[in-house]
Amino acid sequence: MIVTSATEAVTSGRQYLPTSSLGSAGSPNQSLLPLTATVNKNDHLEVGGCDVPSLVRRFGSPLYILDEETLRRACRQYHQAFQRYYPGESLVIYASKAWNCLAVCAIVASEGLGIDVVSGGELYTALRAGMNPEVIYFHGNNKSIDELQFAVEVGCTIVVDNWLELETLARMQDALQPPTRILLRLTPGIECHTHDYIRTGHLDSKFGFDPDQLEDVFAFVSQQPALECVGLHAHIGSQIFELQPHQDLTMVMMQWMSKAATYNLPVRELDIGGGLGIRYTEQDDPPSIDEWVRVICEGVVAACETLQMPLPKLIAEPGRSLIGSACVTAYTVGSQKVIPNLRTYVTVDGGMSDNPRPITYQSIYRAVIANRMSAEMTEMVAVAGKHCESGDIVIKEARLPQTKSGDTLVVMGTGAYNYSMASNYNRLPRPAAVLVNAGEADVILKRESYQDLIQHDCLPEKLVEKG
Ligand SMILES: *Cc1c(COP(=O)(O)O)cnc(C)c1O
Repeated sequence: MIVTSATEAVTSGRQYLPTSSLGSAGSPNQSLLPLTATVNKNDHLEVGGCDVPSLVRRFGSPLYILDEETLRRACRQYHQAFQRYYPGESLVIYASKAWNCLAVCAIVASEGLGIDVVSGGELYTALRAGMNPEVIYFHGNNKSIDELQFAVEVGCTIVVDNWLELETLARMQDALQPPTRILLRLTPGIECHTHDYIRTGHLDSKFGFDPDQLEDVFAFVSQQPALECVGLHAHIGSQIFELQPHQDLTMVMMQWMSKAATYNLPVRELDIGGGLGIRYTEQDDPPSIDEWVRVICEGVVAACETLQMPLPKLIAEPGRSLIGSACVTAYTVGSQKVIPNLRTYVTVDGGMSDNPRPITYQSIYRAVIANRMSAEMTEMVAVAGKHCESGDIVIKEARLPQTKSGDTLVVMGTGAYNYSMASNYNRLPRPAAVLVNAGEADVILKRESYQDLIQHDCLPEKLVEKG
């Protein structure tokens, strides 16, 4: 056990409930728990009107619990902020790599958002969920020929990342089809203070055209009848709390838009990327969705005035800040290992297979015991996963009440880059996900079975033991 200072206040899981200041107008990305979270008379955590320990009894664990209200509220806040602060046309597209599945795509589509996809698989899912191809944007730094053909056929917009892709697309188009709508992704050279692995806007990045190449790219594209270059795109990184980098980005991008216009490119759209962070711990203090949108809109409006440019159609691509805070993961506590004067390990029935972020990015999470929300958090323990990997620690230093086997441990802020990065490591079946709203829970992802785990295994005849 780690000894903490005596002055630290002893609190309970209730400290993470959405505060009244967050209320109905609260920005979901500033709340550790989904906005509908409460504690019921049994002292249990409730999300979307559903008792969390009961959900675990009914659907098993680990269980992703997605709160529909929080997700929809985030969609609306983005949409409304653009209406409020941007006098031109705008579009919010969900960066679906955060969590791409049919139900999530259908929800964001019903809120009037578009979607960005980064693979044929994500594109297929978005289409099957009913997303209109006119608002689908296809990203990626190494799209395959098959993926490009698929994207061209369905008529979505392709965000072109590099020369190979540009030349491939220019050749692919036959004269009978309308030109392919493309955006050009560029690396704007803007630094932001986030984890190195998720910084993508600086020059040493695998994504996008380097600014030095851009004029050649503009010149080339302007000669291609098969391509209609409708705008520019940049994405500077993820889990960003500062507003300055995005403000800087608006001017840099509008300067490039103005340059592109001199090549007679019909550049009408500016896609500013995503990246707004969310609160994973009480120390995190991200700006609200409203503030983030306001800074970007004001930046673009000011840049257009300075450069004497018409307002572009402004596109933003939030992923994490749309869905991250809308979901929690419920686990069941199993074994414990106490190493006297050093540490106590409390083990849960999942880990790096359902949430690879701690082991990949050293991400920090907070947890509560959902069946004892008012219990004082008197312990400092490590919450360990069940995988055969010493690094499989969900939370290195978790403040929790005394735990016992069978408790429901809930990790907060797991909506983004958890399910979408999940694996079957150690052949753990992937968890189920339920969508909760007004006391109802619907399965949106079935729990995988052992049969599912071997469904693509092939056993060549010669390996089958005879007799
Ligand atoms: C990942 C990504 C996003 C979304 O990033 P968030 O930090 O989740 O908002 C947007 N655009 C592109 C191109 C991305 O790769």
